Amino acid sequence: MKTMPSTLDLIGNTPLVLLKGPSEETGCEIYGKCEFANPGASVKDRAALFIVRDAEEQGILQPGGTIVEGTAGNTGIGLALVGNALGYKTIIVMPETQSQEKKDTLRALGAQLVLVPAAPFSNPGHFVHTSRRIAEETDNAIWANQFDNIANRRAHIETTAEEIWEQMDGRVDGFTCAAGTGGTIAGVGLGLKARNENVTIALSDPHGAALYNYYAHGELRAEGNSVAEGIGQGRITANLDGAPIDTQFRISDEEGLVWVRRLLAEEGLCLGLSSGINVAGAVELAKHIGPGHRIATILCDTGFRYLSTLYNPEWMQAKGLPPMPWQLDKAD
Ligand code: PMP
Repeated sequence: MKTMPSTLDLIGNTPLVLLKGPSEETGCEIYGKCEFANPGASVKDRAALFIVRDAEEQGILQPGGTIVEGTAGNTGIGLALVGNALGYKTIIVMPETQSQEKKDTLRALGAQLVLVPAAPFSNPGHFVHTSRRIAEETDNAIWANQFDNIANRRAHIETTAEEIWEQMDGRVDGFTCAAGTGGTIAGVGLGLKARNENVTIALSDPHGAALYNYYAHGELRAEGNSVAEGIGQGRITANLDGAPIDTQFRISDEEGLVWVRRLLAEEGLCLGLSSGINVAGAVELAKHIGPGHRIATILCDTGFRYLSTLYNPEWMQAKGLPPMPWQLDKAD
């Protein structure tokens, strides 16, 4: 058995698994990239490592320094792990609406957690602006700035896209995922297109995000809302700038939840809602390009991060969403 020289070497090189239900339903081969297998249990470990390494290479992050970031949670968890491994402190600013598991995890990892009320990006109290101010006011600190720091998407050009290409033996017809910072869709899109410009790159946008209308009609306009954490963008971040999006789908929480439920009940995969939305998007992409094709998507994080929300029937009912049916009996 091979050994790994450090925790940081555990980031990336995640497995790609055939998703049976989505494949059978569409006549395509649909594969999920198991990003929950990263040490921080999400896709964001990759961006965290690249952002920290980039700051070190630029000489702006000194030994014993502090990494400050605004995040929906997963990037903070990645930064805290990478920071611990390399000797940096972390200060994480998060909207208070994110799951309790993410807050507990960040505190358990030793990050200093700053919770702020959820607010629009135009509000100076928004978590991103708050994190920038804290970084400016803290000695020997950097602002990770995942939304507009393109070291984020470089992680996906250089690692995620290359891994998918290798794992699928260069036979990739389509790729789709949703966007938070946009690092994953833009980076994997650019990386796969560099290998084969005919790969179809599709954005799967949740309700409440503005990107579907942007790519479909050239207008940043959001409609509806979503309880999915970590996705749903309202602007063209630096990471999204120049993303090679060929087509786009708008995916509801209910459509994403069908796949969260089915992948758990039928295939034993416990995932978060952004993964469900990605798989629903992959099914749409399969219908768009037709049967017989090979499609990859991202399984962004573990469902264990959402036991108090998605897998809590009372929480789901309060949000007007269907609980997992096998949990419903126990709730009654
Ligand atoms: N899903 C989850 C659960 C996330 O935390 C994130 C990151 N915010 C994403 C998807 C989207 O990834 P990206 O930031 O690369 O667009």
